[in-house]
Formats: sequence, structure tokens, C-alpha cells
Amino acid sequence: SITKDGVCEIAWYSDDMLINALLEKEILSSFDFAIINRQFGIYLQPQVYANGKLFGAEALARWIHPENGIIQPGVFITVLEKADLIYKLDRYIWELAAKQLDYWKGTEMEGVSISVNVSPKDLYYIDIREEFNNLVKEYDINPRHFNIEITETAVTTDVSKCAELILGLQKDGFVVEIDDFGSGYSSLNMLKDINANILKIDMGFLRKTENQNRAKVILNYTIDMAHELGMGVITEGVETKEQLDFLKELGCEMFQGYYFDMPMPVDEFEKKFKEKYKK
Ligand code: C2E
Ligand code: MG
Ligand code: MG
Ligand code: MG
Repeated sequence: SITKDGVCEIAWYSDDMLINALLEKEILSSFDFAIINRQFGIYLQPQVYANGKLFGAEALARWIHPENGIIQPGVFITVLEKADLIYKLDRYIWELAAKQLDYWKGTEMEGVSISVNVSPKDLYYIDIREEFNNLVKEYDINPRHFNIEITETAVTTDVSKCAELILGLQKDGFVVEIDDFGSGYSSLNMLKDINANILKIDMGFLRKTENQNRAKVILNYTIDMAHELGMGVITEGVETKEQLDFLKELGCEMFQGYYFDMPMPVDEFEKKFKEKYKK
């Protein structure tokens, strides 16, 4: 605000900070209402093998806001994490995914897996293993089709807790992925103690750099290392044919990215599956 002698009292705030603070308040004050009124939904993004065949999809949260339209997770996930509310959204999203796997039983979509995201904060607010097992029981679904993405940051926050969780989930039949691998500061170190089913390589690796050759060496060794440790490899953020060919050459076997498709509403995904991916 401007005082009567023209001094701006909030000069130390940038416009961005002010807008973010307002947005944060707005998000937090409407979150419970939004959950109760089912304003959150999932978009599905295809995941494919090297031969182009689809095997699964990642479920990505979208806030279908009655006035503001579709709000991307970049806007609300960190706000909910900061406020320790993310577990409420995640539980809701995981249940939507479980319901979807249930709907697909007995249709041509049966066998397509769905990956869901776990926030690092979830580790401290809910019993993740119990949550997923309850969903599997309630909806009578095969845990092999339920992929659980745990971000590298979550794992490095508490390696021993995550190692135990991951082992437990695998014992229960779930597929566990390390999401955003290679984006943090101790990616390699944690792999001593973490045996996931799939390593999901962060799309940062695909970004053009001046050191393209170095990036290639690192990517190549990462893929080989994952395989030698018994993990599958999926790269996210594949946007071009060049990137796809390059990754195939390095031995990567699973892919996700705009080159194939963007995340889309479930009914669109089912249509796409029939028209484009069913082979
Ligand atoms: P993520 O789990 O790493 O998901 C991949 C993100 O990359 C998605 O963004 C996806 O739309 C985007 N993406 C996929 N292919 C490409 C590509 O070729 N190029 C580019 N530039 N981007 C691509 P989205 O949907 O905006 O989600 C962003 C992040 O929000 C996710 O990153 C995840 O960390 C978080 N998130 C989304 N849904 C949930 C959720 O239900 N729970 C939690 N805890 N986090 C979620
Ligand atoms: Mg993910
Ligand atoms: Mg990721
Ligand atoms: Mg990422």
C-alpha cells in the first residue's frame, strides 16, 4: 500500500511474492471444500515400450476448478506439502487410480498399469503400505498393476524408512519406482540401500547442455547401472524422435513424454488406447 507521503510500505515484496502469498491462502482455504466436492481428478499419460506398445500410464493430479478451469499440480502440490495437507490429496488420487483399475477389469484396458505419486511428506502422516493394501482389498485389484512412484528426494530424506517401505510394498506385490532419479544431490549413494523395481530417470537429463557428450556418458552408465542392479529403466520427458532414438541406443526400454502424448482425461486415454496403442 502507498502511505500519504507516497512511500510504498510493501516495497520489499515483489509482485510475484504477493501473488503467490494470495494464491497460497486461496488454495488452502478452498482445499477441503474441493476434496469434498470431488474437484480433483486424474489425467493419464501413456508409458510405452521401445516398440511403441503401451504398458501403463502415470496418474497426474488436476484440480478441475469450477471458476478457474484446470489447475496444474505445479500450482498446488508444493503449497499442500508446505501445509502438511498433501497426504489428503494423495490418498484421494490413489483411490481414483484404484477405482480406475477396477473399472478396467474385464475390458480391453485390463492389464494396463497405473503409476501414482507419493509425496515425501506422506511418509510422516500416513502408513503408506497400509493405504495401498487397503485399496487393493477394497477394489479387488492386482497390485502388479499399481505402480508406486517415490521421488528421489523422499528416499534421500530418510533412506532407512524408505528402504523398509519399499521392501514391504514389493512383498505385497506392488511395483515401486524411484521418480526424478538424478535430480538430487545423493542419487547414487542411496542406491546402495534401495532396491526399487524401476528407476525413472529425471527429464533434466534430456535438456540440451553445452556438455552433451558428458550428459550422454552419465546417462549411459546410469541405465547400465540400473540394469545391473536388477531395475528396469523408464525415462520421462521424451519430447522428440531424436531423444527417443538416442535413449533406445543407450539401452533404455520404457518411455514417457510429450513425443508420445501429453497427460489427458481418462476417457480420452481409453480412446487413444484403442486408436493408437492397441497392437
Ligand atoms: P512427475 O511425477 O515427475 O510427473 C511428470 C511431469 O512431467 C508431469 O507434470 C508431466 O505432465 C510432465 N511431462 C511429461 N512428459 C513431459 C515432456 O515430454 N516434457 C515436459 N516438459 N514435461 C513432461 P505435471 O502433471 O504438471 O506434474 C508435475 C509434478 O507434480 C509431478 O512430477 C509430481 O511431482 C507432482 N504431482 C502430480 N500429481 C501428483 C499427485 O497426485 N501427488 C503428488 N504428491 N504429486 C503429484
Ligand atoms: Mg511421477
Ligand atoms: Mg518424475
Ligand atoms: Mg520430474
